[in-house]
Amino acid sequence: MDLMKEKKFGFGCMRLPLLDKEDPASFDYDLINKLFDNYLENGFNYFDTAYTYHGYHGEEGVRKALVERHTRDSFKLATKLPLRDFKDSEDMEKIFNEQLNNSGVDYFDFYLLHNMGSNVYSKCEKYGAFDFAAKKKEEGKIKVVGMSFHDMPELLDEILSKYADKIDFVQLQINYVDWEQPNVQSRRCLEIANKYDKPVTVMEPCKGGTLINVPEEAEKLMKEYNPKASTASWALRFAASQKGVFRVLSGMNTMDQVNDNTSFMADFKPLNEEEMDIIERVTKIINDNTAIACTACEYCTHGCPKNIAIPKYFALYNSIMRTTGSFLSQMVYYNNIAIKNGKASECIGCKQCEKACPQHLPITTYLKDVTEKFEKNSIIPTRK
Ligand code: SF4
Ligand code: SF4
Repeated sequence: MDLMKEKKFGFGCMRLPLLDKEDPASFDYDLINKLFDNYLENGFNYFDTAYTYHGYHGEEGVRKALVERHTRDSFKLATKLPLRDFKDSEDMEKIFNEQLNNSGVDYFDFYLLHNMGSNVYSKCEKYGAFDFAAKKKEEGKIKVVGMSFHDMPELLDEILSKYADKIDFVQLQINYVDWEQPNVQSRRCLEIANKYDKPVTVMEPCKGGTLINVPEEAEKLMKEYNPKASTASWALRFAASQKGVFRVLSGMNTMDQVNDNTSFMADFKPLNEEEMDIIERVTKIINDNTAIACTACEYCTHGCPKNIAIPKYFALYNSIMRTTGSFLSQMVYYNNIAIKNGKASECIGCKQCEKACPQHLPITTYLKDVTEKFEKNSIIPTRK
């Protein structure tokens, strides 16, 4: 299958509309059915869910709103193996069969190793997760194998150099604010995927909603150039314009969003130079509105006796202070970074870092804020 010929726009099903915000399984099927139908009627066909979404009910929600209401050849379904959850090889098989059952299908069009990063990579090697996905593909239970990735480009390079023959595509967090952010490094991760000729699907193009509700000054710039274009259209088109990107996902939960997103993705046009220039200025405005004015120079990290990833943690903190929507994904990054570095709470207050910081930031105080957000507030759900 030539992935670059696939429909360029997918429906992300991580945040489907609910009847009760406290109950992740209380799907608002009346609305979801209409959103899915409208999206399909606009000529698109790709739905991205996961075993862990909606408190482990995501696949069931998609089954009821999509699989049981539409013919199998009218849509493509993607789901993911929960790398954090599986215990051993047998458990992978058990989970996979459960997923087929949850989803009401006998094969997956796309199947991804979910949230690959430092915390799960060795476990995947030990229990053969890459081989497992390849075997399921051989059996015809999976058409295309992918990997969603939330870690640093060096690790992506290492994994692809070893498993390029078993991974057909990579799913990356790409948006204009994370393009050069040290904690995500969208641009460099994309370059690695390009290096191995792996087509890329983009997740979080609007950074959990951050790039929809941009500061007034930034929105003004966009509206002056094109009064009709939504802030979401700038974000999605930025992601879809990048080399090697074959699909961009959007988690839509209102009809206005489906109508808006499908309108410009149906007749997709990459951003021109002038638009790219506006994106650069918008990025600067957003960054100027950030909670911690860290420039990621890394001067502070060299002498830290606890090897605390100070600028990376500050970038994550800034991301969640701009929105609540992307907290879960920022938490995943935090936990991955903390595997090889000291956690914010391990700071011993020696203030070596503050002496080195050219921005004169009160680093030790900020690390307490980071601890409060990321270590005392864990919202990552676990398998029952
Ligand atoms: S004050 Fe904390 S973060 Fe700064 S160098 Fe010392 S241990 Fe590291
Ligand atoms: S030295 Fe200051 S500005 Fe540079 S990375 Fe560290 S905290 Fe950020």
